[in-house]
Amino acid sequence: MTTLADPVPGGRPGDVERAAGLAGELAGRGVHGIVLSYVDTAGVGRVKTVPTGRLADAAAWGVGMSPVFDTFLADDTIVTSGELGSPDGDLRLYPDLDGLTVLAGQPGWAWAPVDRITQDGHPHPGCSRTFLRHLLTDAASGLGLGFRAAVEIEWAVGLGSAPAGEFAPAATGPAYGATRQVELSDFGADLLAACAAQGVDVDQFHPEYAAGQFEISAGALDPVAAADRSVLVRHTIRAVARRHGLRVSFSPAVNAVGVGNGGHLHLSLWRDGRNLHTGGARRHGMTAEAEAFAAGVLARLPGLTAVTAPSPASYLRLRPSQWAGVFTAWGPETRECALRLITGTAGPRDRAANLEVKPVDLAANPYLALGAVIAAGLDGVRREAVLPGETTGDPARLTPEEAAAREVRRLPTSLAEAVEAFRADDVLRDALGALLTDAVIAVREGEIAAVDGLEDDQVAAAYRWVY
Ligand code: GLU
Ligand code: MG
Repeated sequence: MTTLADPVPGGRPGDVERAAGLAGELAGRGVHGIVLSYVDTAGVGRVKTVPTGRLADAAAWGVGMSPVFDTFLADDTIVTSGELGSPDGDLRLYPDLDGLTVLAGQPGWAWAPVDRITQDGHPHPGCSRTFLRHLLTDAASGLGLGFRAAVEIEWAVGLGSAPAGEFAPAATGPAYGATRQVELSDFGADLLAACAAQGVDVDQFHPEYAAGQFEISAGALDPVAAADRSVLVRHTIRAVARRHGLRVSFSPAVNAVGVGNGGHLHLSLWRDGRNLHTGGARRHGMTAEAEAFAAGVLARLPGLTAVTAPSPASYLRLRPSQWAGVFTAWGPETRECALRLITGTAGPRDRAANLEVKPVDLAANPYLALGAVIAAGLDGVRREAVLPGETTGDPARLTPEEAAAREVRRLPTSLAEAVEAFRADDVLRDALGALLTDAVIAVREGEIAAVDGLEDDQVAAAYRWVY
């Protein structure tokens, strides 16, 4: 659930009384502090915390935080651009009480996502969560469209005892291997218990392909709640891992070569309580609107990668034939296409049919990534866009003629190429607004400069423990 109303000075109607009640309840459960969580433009999770007794005050007046975080880089250096990156001013962080969760992996703590407003009480145009919230309320009121979303989480589990900065896989068994599941049995069981206690309905938890890699996928929610959940689950994975002497990395490329960590997005478009990805007259049961949405996303993928794959390390992952989806191709259940159409199995198809977007990783700010992808899709809906021919198998194997016939192109191979495509994309820039657009470009250019001259393995090492 997500609170749709913007925060206001004095508190959203009813929030202060509710927060006071919740604070009493939390204190009774041994919760001493609340983690107020947001994600910056570089994709780094940042927090402030308040004692539980201050929750009602935070719901009324927010908690101060500098706007300078809009232009932090992943290594904590700060870039400037226009009005961004100045040491002046302050913003207020307001917890969404609907997202308040007692942290099962960190006894004594609860967690809540925040929206940011100015000291004068206006929504902060650089707040990614507010951006996504507004986009969804506009789509509901202007177009009658709703969304369900989920973010897949892949990560690598390393030994806490590894030499500083290095990654030593904590499980050595084969990909998807039974041995790996046994090696990290206690960690896995504690993680599932923590997710259950936090109300996260995990669909699957399994060993993945790369060394020490695992994956969790959870059920679909409204997109803001799905983004919140991806942040919460990662916070939980980190905390549970630490209690087991383990260290985890969500970096797109823990190592410079091999399969990386993805953060695939799943999205479905709904109208009047009906999933538009099934039961329609277009290919694979899509309705015209679901096809137009997919075509809108497909058309803007090059620029989108600046948002969905925002780190120099993202481009170590985005390589052909590693299931990361690096071609502007779509197809039913095709794992090498950037867009995979999931029709679902016969029974739960009404709920399960959705669109999977693969060139997304967990360096991405999930609010910005979901918002930018949805904005691209909605542009397709407005234009009544149609999909080109579908692709089966690995698009890397298409002849130039076959690729041209399906409009299949390679996605950007570097962050610099992605930024160039983003700059040229009016639809994405308009959707994000001037300030968020500036923030994205300034931060990406800062990251590009930060890795200038580094070899691939140095890039992987630089971002290994950031996300
Ligand atoms: N690890 C792959 C990626 O980087 C995804 C594997 C899968 O399809 O689950 O996107
Ligand atoms: Mg996977």
